[in-house]
Amino acid sequence: MIKKFSDYTWKGVEKHIYKENPEVFRAVTKQVLFEHEGDLPVQFRYFEVDRDGFSSLEKHEHMHMVVIFRGKGHVLLNQQVSGISEGDLIIIRPWEWHQFRADEGEKLGFFCLVNAQRDFPVYPTKDDLRKMHENPAVHSFLQGQSGPREK
Ligand code: MN
Repeated sequence: MIKKFSDYTWKGVEKHIYKENPEVFRAVTKQVLFEHEGDLPVQFRYFEVDRDGFSSLEKHEHMHMVVIFRGKGHVLLNQQVSGISEGDLIIIRPWEWHQFRADEGEKLGFFCLVNAQRDFPVYPTKDDLRKMHENPAVHSFLQGQSGPREK
């Protein structure tokens, strides 16, 4: 079977807002492209973060394999902030804090592979956040200021 691609959507795939929690994420859509069939016990999704948006800051036991498909931005992996762009491959290991930000003035789209059976994410406590903000690079990232500054 084939699901035809056009304008960052796939025919027959529903596009919806990822999680209804505006405190934790902003302007993210999710399309589930593949859901556990046959001998592939995985879910394959496409997320798109609108300009200045961000995915939720979370950690969990299950892993992600992410490939950037559109645009650029930054990713936080524990204490490490990295610029990311089309084609970059990002492995997110168990219990690693992670967040994606479209902080380079354009949309950020990425594929994300997960196990079909997975645990629920954990979100940072106030104490976790306080510790994260002690790192200047992480602080800038969380303020949405890793990208180019407004002129
Ligand atoms: Mn995650």
